[in-house]
Amino acid sequence: MKTILTGVRANEEPTIGNFLGAYMPMINLAHKHATDCNINMFVPDLHSFTTPIDHSKLYAQVIKGIKYYMAAGLDTDNPNVHIYRQSHVPAHSELAWILDCFTPFGEASRMTQFKEKSEEHHDAITVGLFNYPILMAADILLYDAEYIPLGEDQFQHLELTRNIAMRMNNKFETELFTIPAPEKEQVAFMGLDKGLRIRSLTEPTKKMSKSSNNEKSKISLNDDPAEAKKKIMSATTDSEGVIHFDMQKQPGVSNLLMIEALINNKPLEEVIAQFDGQTRYGDLKKQVAESVSNFLTSFQAKVASISDEDVENVLEKGEAYANEVANKKLYEIQKQVGVRK
Ligand code: AMP
Repeated sequence: MKTILTGVRANEEPTIGNFLGAYMPMINLAHKHATDCNINMFVPDLHSFTTPIDHSKLYAQVIKGIKYYMAAGLDTDNPNVHIYRQSHVPAHSELAWILDCFTPFGEASRMTQFKEKSEEHHDAITVGLFNYPILMAADILLYDAEYIPLGEDQFQHLELTRNIAMRMNNKFETELFTIPAPEKEQVAFMGLDKGLRIRSLTEPTKKMSKSSNNEKSKISLNDDPAEAKKKIMSATTDSEGVIHFDMQKQPGVSNLLMIEALINNKPLEEVIAQFDGQTRYGDLKKQVAESVSNFLTSFQAKVASISDEDVENVLEKGEAYANEVANKKLYEIQKQVGVRK
Protein backbone atom coordinates (compact mmCIF):
# COMPACT_ATOMS: atom_id res chain seq x y z
CA MET A 1 0.00 0.00 0.00
CA LYS A 2 1.39 3.43 -0.95
CA THR A 3 1.88 6.15 1.63
CA ILE A 4 0.83 9.79 1.39
CA LEU A 5 2.45 11.99 4.02
CA THR A 6 2.38 15.59 5.09
CA GLY A 7 3.20 17.76 8.10
CA VAL A 8 2.65 21.36 9.15
CA ARG A 9 4.85 22.87 11.86
CA ALA A 10 3.03 23.99 14.96
CA ASN A 11 5.08 26.81 16.40
CA GLU A 12 3.15 29.60 14.74
CA GLU A 13 -0.53 29.85 14.04
CA PRO A 14 -1.15 28.26 10.60
CA THR A 15 -2.62 30.53 7.93
CA ILE A 16 -5.18 29.96 5.22
CA GLY A 17 -2.07 29.48 3.02
CA ASN A 18 -1.20 26.37 5.03
CA PHE A 19 -4.83 25.32 5.03
CA LEU A 20 -5.33 25.64 1.28
CA GLY A 21 -1.79 24.58 0.30
CA ALA A 22 -1.23 21.63 2.64
CA TYR A 23 -4.27 20.64 4.74
CA MET A 24 -6.89 20.60 1.98
CA PRO A 25 -4.84 18.70 -0.63
CA MET A 26 -4.08 16.12 2.07
CA ILE A 27 -7.68 15.83 3.22
CA ASN A 28 -8.92 15.53 -0.37
CA LEU A 29 -6.38 12.79 -1.03
CA ALA A 30 -7.30 11.08 2.23
CA HIS A 31 -10.91 10.89 1.03
CA LYS A 32 -9.96 9.73 -2.44
CA HIS A 33 -7.48 7.10 -1.23
CA ALA A 34 -9.23 6.11 2.00
CA THR A 35 -8.89 2.40 1.31
CA ASP A 36 -5.81 2.09 -0.92
CA CYS A 37 -3.17 4.30 0.78
CA ASN A 38 -1.71 5.01 4.18
CA ILE A 39 -2.42 8.62 5.10
CA ASN A 40 0.25 9.92 7.47
CA MET A 41 -0.41 13.40 8.81
CA PHE A 42 2.09 14.34 11.47
CA VAL A 43 3.18 17.39 13.39
CA PRO A 44 6.89 18.13 12.85
CA ASP A 45 7.32 19.52 16.35
CA LEU A 46 11.13 19.15 16.32
CA HIS A 47 11.14 21.38 13.25
CA SER A 48 9.31 23.99 15.29
CA PHE A 49 12.37 25.52 16.92
CA THR A 50 14.84 25.76 14.05
CA THR A 51 14.26 29.48 14.65
CA PRO A 52 13.67 30.88 18.16
CA ILE A 53 10.22 30.31 19.73
CA ASP A 54 8.51 30.54 23.12
CA HIS A 55 9.04 26.96 24.33
CA SER A 56 6.47 27.25 27.12
CA LYS A 57 3.76 27.36 24.43
CA LEU A 58 4.93 24.61 22.12
CA TYR A 59 3.21 21.61 23.71
CA ALA A 60 -0.22 23.24 23.61
CA GLN A 61 0.40 24.46 20.06
CA VAL A 62 1.13 20.92 18.90
CA ILE A 63 -2.11 19.62 20.42
CA LYS A 64 -3.96 22.47 18.72
CA GLY A 65 -2.23 21.63 15.42
CA ILE A 66 -3.68 18.13 15.65
CA LYS A 67 -7.14 19.51 16.39
CA TYR A 68 -6.76 21.51 13.19
CA TYR A 69 -6.09 18.37 11.16
CA MET A 70 -9.17 16.77 12.67
CA ALA A 71 -11.34 19.87 12.19
CA ALA A 72 -10.22 20.11 8.57
CA GLY A 73 -11.97 16.79 7.97
CA LEU A 74 -9.38 14.05 8.37
CA ASP A 75 -11.30 10.84 9.11
CA THR A 76 -9.65 9.57 12.28
CA ASP A 77 -11.84 6.45 12.35
CA ASN A 78 -10.22 5.23 9.15
CA PRO A 79 -7.56 2.66 10.16
CA ASN A 80 -5.34 3.89 7.30
CA VAL A 81 -5.15 7.41 8.77
CA HIS A 82 -2.17 7.91 11.10
CA ILE A 83 -1.65 11.07 13.13
CA TYR A 84 1.52 11.45 15.18
CA ARG A 85 4.16 13.80 16.55
CA GLN A 86 7.65 13.69 15.07
CA SER A 87 9.20 13.99 18.55
CA HIS A 88 7.35 10.88 19.74
CA VAL A 89 8.94 8.70 17.07
CA PRO A 90 12.66 8.87 17.92
CA ALA A 91 13.65 7.15 14.66
CA HIS A 92 13.13 10.48 12.85
CA SER A 93 16.03 12.18 14.65
CA GLU A 94 18.22 9.14 14.42
CA LEU A 95 17.72 8.75 10.69
CA ALA A 96 18.34 12.49 10.22
CA TRP A 97 21.85 11.98 11.61
CA ILE A 98 22.54 9.11 9.24
CA LEU A 99 21.21 11.10 6.26
CA ASP A 100 23.39 14.07 7.32
CA CYS A 101 26.41 11.93 6.62
CA PHE A 102 25.21 11.25 3.08
CA THR A 103 24.38 14.86 2.22
CA PRO A 104 27.08 17.00 0.66
CA PHE A 105 27.40 20.29 2.50
CA GLY A 106 27.34 22.19 -0.81
CA GLU A 107 24.02 20.65 -1.82
CA ALA A 108 22.38 21.49 1.51
CA SER A 109 23.81 25.04 1.30
CA ARG A 110 21.81 25.69 -1.86
CA MET A 111 18.43 25.51 -0.11
CA THR A 112 16.69 28.82 -0.69
CA GLN A 113 14.52 28.50 2.42
CA PHE A 114 17.67 28.39 4.55
CA LYS A 115 19.02 31.46 2.77
CA GLU A 116 15.76 33.37 3.20
CA LYS A 117 15.27 32.37 6.82
CA SER A 118 18.86 33.16 7.74
CA GLU A 119 18.35 36.65 6.39
CA GLU A 120 15.21 37.01 8.49
CA HIS A 121 16.83 35.60 11.65
CA HIS A 122 20.41 36.69 11.06
CA ASP A 123 21.07 36.90 14.82
CA ALA A 124 20.06 33.26 15.35
CA ILE A 125 21.17 31.07 12.46
CA THR A 126 21.41 27.62 13.98
CA VAL A 127 22.72 24.31 12.72
CA GLY A 128 19.12 23.12 13.20
CA LEU A 129 17.90 25.63 10.63
CA PHE A 130 20.52 24.39 8.18
CA ASN A 131 19.59 20.80 8.95
CA TYR A 132 15.85 21.35 8.55
CA PRO A 133 15.54 19.70 5.11
CA ILE A 134 17.55 16.63 6.19
CA LEU A 135 15.18 15.98 9.10
CA MET A 136 12.37 16.47 6.60
CA ALA A 137 13.98 13.84 4.36
CA ALA A 138 14.00 11.45 7.34
CA ASP A 139 10.30 12.20 7.99
CA ILE A 140 9.52 11.09 4.44
CA LEU A 141 11.97 8.21 3.87
CA LEU A 142 11.20 6.36 7.11
CA TYR A 143 7.70 5.60 5.84
CA ASP A 144 8.58 4.97 2.17
CA ALA A 145 6.17 7.80 1.37
CA GLU A 146 5.66 8.40 -2.34
CA TYR A 147 3.30 11.33 -2.32
CA ILE A 148 3.87 14.41 -0.19
CA PRO A 149 1.21 17.10 -0.65
CA LEU A 150 3.25 20.28 -0.29
CA GLY A 151 3.07 23.92 -1.16
CA GLU A 152 5.35 25.22 -3.89
CA ASP A 153 7.89 26.49 -1.33
CA GLN A 154 8.85 22.95 -0.27
CA PHE A 155 9.65 21.40 -3.65
CA GLN A 156 13.36 22.10 -3.38
CA HIS A 157 13.44 20.13 -0.12
CA LEU A 158 11.59 17.29 -1.81
CA GLU A 159 14.22 17.23 -4.56
CA LEU A 160 16.96 17.07 -1.92
CA THR A 161 15.13 14.13 -0.27
CA ARG A 162 15.01 12.32 -3.61
CA ASN A 163 18.72 12.93 -4.18
CA ILE A 164 19.71 11.60 -0.77
CA ALA A 165 17.55 8.52 -1.22
CA MET A 166 18.88 7.78 -4.71
CA ARG A 167 22.47 8.33 -3.57
CA MET A 168 22.09 5.87 -0.69
CA ASN A 169 20.26 3.30 -2.82
CA ASN A 170 23.13 3.45 -5.33
CA LYS A 171 25.83 3.30 -2.70
CA PHE A 172 24.39 0.27 -0.94
CA GLU A 173 23.08 -1.26 -4.16
CA THR A 174 19.66 -1.90 -2.64
CA GLU A 175 16.14 -0.57 -2.88
CA LEU A 176 16.57 0.64 0.69
CA PHE A 177 14.43 3.73 0.15
CA THR A 178 11.32 4.31 -1.92
CA ILE A 179 12.02 7.41 -4.00
CA PRO A 180 9.24 9.98 -3.54
CA ALA A 181 7.58 11.02 -6.79
CA PRO A 182 9.12 14.07 -8.53
CA GLU A 183 7.49 17.50 -8.40
CA LYS A 184 5.41 17.13 -11.57
CA GLU A 185 3.91 13.83 -10.45
CA GLN A 186 3.26 15.18 -6.96
CA VAL A 187 1.36 18.11 -8.37
CA ALA A 188 -0.63 15.89 -10.75
CA PHE A 189 -1.42 13.51 -7.87
CA MET A 190 -2.87 16.47 -5.96
CA GLY A 191 -5.06 17.19 -9.00
CA LEU A 192 -3.28 20.49 -9.74
CA ASP A 193 -1.27 21.70 -12.70
CA LYS A 194 1.33 23.41 -10.53
CA GLY A 195 2.24 23.91 -6.89
CA LEU A 196 0.00 26.15 -4.82
CA ARG A 197 1.19 29.41 -3.40
CA ILE A 198 -1.22 31.67 -1.54
CA ARG A 199 0.26 35.16 -1.51
CA SER A 200 0.75 37.73 1.21
CA LEU A 201 -2.17 40.19 1.38
CA THR A 202 0.15 43.17 1.71
CA GLU A 203 2.99 42.09 -0.62
CA PRO A 204 1.35 39.73 -3.12
CA THR A 205 4.58 38.91 -4.90
CA LYS A 206 5.59 36.96 -1.76
CA LYS A 207 3.97 33.91 -0.17
CA MET A 208 1.61 34.29 2.77
CA SER A 209 3.87 33.22 5.61
CA LYS A 210 2.78 32.22 9.09
CA SER A 211 6.05 33.57 10.50
CA SER A 212 5.49 37.09 9.12
CA ASN A 213 5.41 39.81 11.78
CA ASN A 214 2.97 41.79 9.69
CA GLU A 215 -0.48 40.64 10.90
CA LYS A 216 -2.17 42.31 7.92
CA SER A 217 -0.24 40.16 5.48
CA LYS A 218 -1.87 36.91 6.57
CA ILE A 219 -5.14 35.32 7.70
CA SER A 220 -4.40 32.98 10.59
CA LEU A 221 -6.75 30.13 11.37
CA ASN A 222 -7.56 31.63 14.78
CA ASP A 223 -8.21 35.15 13.44
CA ASP A 224 -11.39 36.81 14.54
CA PRO A 225 -13.65 36.50 11.44
CA ALA A 226 -14.52 40.22 11.54
CA GLU A 227 -10.82 41.17 11.67
CA ALA A 228 -10.10 38.78 8.82
CA LYS A 229 -12.74 40.54 6.73
CA LYS A 230 -10.99 43.87 7.31
CA LYS A 231 -7.66 42.39 6.24
CA ILE A 232 -9.17 41.18 2.96
CA MET A 233 -10.85 44.54 2.37
CA SER A 234 -7.49 46.30 2.76
CA ALA A 235 -5.48 43.76 0.72
CA THR A 236 -3.01 45.26 -1.75
CA THR A 237 -4.23 45.08 -5.35
CA ASP A 238 -3.01 47.17 -8.32
CA SER A 239 -3.86 50.19 -10.40
CA GLU A 240 -4.76 48.37 -13.64
CA GLY A 241 -8.44 49.13 -12.99
CA VAL A 242 -9.75 45.87 -14.50
CA ILE A 243 -9.81 42.43 -12.91
CA HIS A 244 -7.87 39.74 -14.75
CA PHE A 245 -6.32 36.54 -13.45
CA ASP A 246 -2.64 37.23 -14.08
CA MET A 247 -0.18 36.29 -11.33
CA GLN A 248 2.62 38.33 -12.93
CA LYS A 249 0.83 41.60 -13.62
CA GLN A 250 -1.95 41.43 -11.03
CA PRO A 251 -0.78 39.17 -8.19
CA GLY A 252 -3.06 40.82 -5.61
CA VAL A 253 -6.39 40.30 -7.39
CA SER A 254 -5.27 36.92 -8.73
CA ASN A 255 -4.51 35.83 -5.17
CA LEU A 256 -8.00 36.90 -4.06
CA LEU A 257 -9.59 34.99 -6.95
CA MET A 258 -7.61 31.91 -5.98
CA ILE A 259 -8.57 32.15 -2.31
CA GLU A 260 -12.23 32.55 -3.27
CA ALA A 261 -12.11 29.42 -5.43
CA LEU A 262 -10.13 27.20 -3.05
CA ILE A 263 -11.92 28.13 0.14
CA ASN A 264 -15.30 27.32 -1.42
CA ASN A 265 -14.01 24.26 -3.29
CA LYS A 266 -15.10 25.90 -6.56
CA PRO A 267 -13.22 25.61 -9.88
CA LEU A 268 -10.94 28.62 -10.37
CA GLU A 269 -12.35 29.09 -13.89
CA GLU A 270 -15.81 29.63 -12.43
CA VAL A 271 -14.56 32.42 -10.13
CA ILE A 272 -12.51 33.98 -12.92
CA ALA A 273 -15.56 33.92 -15.20
CA GLN A 274 -17.57 35.75 -12.54
CA PHE A 275 -15.09 38.60 -12.09
CA ASP A 276 -13.01 38.84 -15.26
CA GLY A 277 -13.23 42.28 -16.88
CA GLN A 278 -14.98 43.89 -13.92
CA THR A 279 -13.70 47.20 -12.67
CA ARG A 280 -14.99 47.23 -9.08
CA TYR A 281 -12.25 45.61 -7.00
CA GLY A 282 -14.42 46.25 -3.93
CA ASP A 283 -17.02 43.70 -5.10
CA LEU A 284 -14.39 41.00 -5.37
CA LYS A 285 -12.95 41.91 -1.96
CA LYS A 286 -16.40 41.85 -0.34
CA GLN A 287 -17.16 38.39 -1.68
CA VAL A 288 -13.77 36.99 -0.62
CA ALA A 289 -14.06 38.66 2.80
CA GLU A 290 -17.44 36.98 3.29
CA SER A 291 -16.12 33.58 2.21
CA VAL A 292 -13.06 33.79 4.47
CA SER A 293 -15.12 34.96 7.43
CA ASN A 294 -17.69 32.14 6.95
CA PHE A 295 -14.89 29.62 6.64
CA LEU A 296 -13.19 30.81 9.85
CA THR A 297 -16.44 30.82 11.82
CA SER A 298 -17.28 27.25 10.90
CA PHE A 299 -13.70 25.96 11.20
CA GLN A 300 -13.20 27.52 14.64
CA ALA A 301 -16.47 25.99 15.89
CA LYS A 302 -15.25 22.56 14.77
CA VAL A 303 -11.90 23.04 16.52
CA ALA A 304 -13.68 24.04 19.75
CA SER A 305 -15.75 20.83 19.65
CA ILE A 306 -12.64 18.59 19.75
CA SER A 307 -11.34 17.80 23.25
CA ASP A 308 -7.75 17.19 24.36
CA GLU A 309 -8.83 13.66 25.18
CA ASP A 310 -9.95 13.10 21.57
CA VAL A 311 -6.46 14.19 20.49
CA GLU A 312 -4.72 11.91 23.00
CA ASN A 313 -6.68 8.90 21.76
CA VAL A 314 -5.79 9.63 18.16
CA LEU A 315 -2.11 10.12 19.04
CA GLU A 316 -1.86 6.94 21.07
CA LYS A 317 -3.00 4.92 18.08
CA GLY A 318 -1.00 6.92 15.53
CA GLU A 319 2.26 6.90 17.46
CA ALA A 320 2.13 3.16 18.12
CA TYR A 321 1.78 2.62 14.37
CA ALA A 322 4.44 5.17 13.42
CA ASN A 323 7.02 3.75 15.85
CA GLU A 324 6.47 0.25 14.54
CA VAL A 325 6.90 1.22 10.88
CA ALA A 326 9.73 3.69 11.48
CA ASN A 327 11.76 1.38 13.72
CA LYS A 328 11.53 -1.43 11.22
CA LYS A 329 12.85 0.85 8.50
CA LEU A 330 15.56 2.27 10.74
CA TYR A 331 16.83 -1.24 11.52
CA GLU A 332 17.22 -1.96 7.82
CA ILE A 333 19.14 1.27 7.35
CA GLN A 334 21.33 0.63 10.38
CA LYS A 335 22.25 -2.73 8.89
CA GLN A 336 23.25 -1.11 5.63
CA VAL A 337 25.44 1.51 7.28
CA GLY A 338 27.10 -1.19 9.36
CA VAL A 339 26.02 -0.41 12.91
CA ARG A 340 23.70 -3.39 13.23
CA LYS A 341 24.06 -6.98 12.10
P1 AMP B 1 5.24 25.55 6.96
O1 AMP B 1 4.37 26.78 7.01
O2 AMP B 1 6.63 25.88 6.50
O3 AMP B 1 5.18 24.72 8.19
O4 AMP B 1 4.63 24.68 5.78
C1 AMP B 1 3.64 23.70 5.98
C2 AMP B 1 2.98 23.36 4.67
O5 AMP B 1 2.16 24.45 4.23
C3 AMP B 1 3.96 23.07 3.53
O6 AMP B 1 3.42 22.03 2.73
C4 AMP B 1 3.96 24.35 2.76
O7 AMP B 1 4.31 24.15 1.41
C5 AMP B 1 2.51 24.82 2.89
N1 AMP B 1 2.40 26.29 2.76
C6 AMP B 1 2.94 27.20 3.60
N2 AMP B 1 2.65 28.46 3.20
C7 AMP B 1 1.90 28.33 2.06
C8 AMP B 1 1.29 29.26 1.15
N3 AMP B 1 1.37 30.58 1.34
N4 AMP B 1 0.60 28.77 0.09
C9 AMP B 1 0.51 27.44 -0.12
N5 AMP B 1 1.06 26.50 0.69
C10 AMP B 1 1.74 26.93 1.77
